[in-house]
Amino acid sequence: MLHFIKSSFFLICFCCGISAKAQNESYAEPVQHTIEDTSFVNLKDYSKDFIYDMKYATEDNFLKAKVYDCAECFLRLKTVKALVAANKDFIKKGYKIKLYDCYRPLSIQQKMWAIVSNPEYVADPKKGSIHNRGGAVDISLVDANGKEIEMGTAFDFFGPEAGHNYTKFSKKVLANRKFLKKIMIQNGFNSFDSEWWHYNLKTGLKDPVANQKWNCE
Ligand SMILES: [Zn+2]
Repeated sequence: MLHFIKSSFFLICFCCGISAKAQNESYAEPVQHTIEDTSFVNLKDYSKDFIYDMKYATEDNFLKAKVYDCAECFLRLKTVKALVAANKDFIKKGYKIKLYDCYRPLSIQQKMWAIVSNPEYVADPKKGSIHNRGGAVDISLVDANGKEIEMGTAFDFFGPEAGHNYTKFSKKVLANRKFLKKIMIQNGFNSFDSEWWHYNLKTGLKDPVANQKWNCE
């Protein structure tokens, strides 16, 4: 009998719960946020599985200046989707993407060009980099212990050793670069011959250059 009372009690409460929820729903307007694939979004709102080492938000870069107010990774939504898919592939194999740079306002590109006016390493701001279009990322990989895997040179190393065609490295380094490249290409990115860390979203090449400031709050 006691069991029966208990069951009825729970049953009644369960029904109350449903009807209260249904009432609430009938008053709530359906909210639909449709975000365009080309809208700029913050990567962290779509995945928590990335490691951030945003060099231009520190003084540890070739500009020797902190040019971003905060270490956020903004990109167009379609770039985020492709990057999250690539990271899932890396995670399956025990690695994660570490980010050095994402969207880069045009004004920062101009500063970089003033220091290194060589199109092999820095895009001419008159043409604009894919970074300025929200379709490029500078990345490396970390292993399961969070340690960056060997890629032969540091990020933003200006020299032939940074290029994919430079082969005078250990087999391990060459395999690491190849692994990064393979998965990124499988997920819709192009590599860049002179920088092992740089990847462009293939469908992002024609998006307009942008010079927006992001919200750091
Ligand atoms: Zn880059």
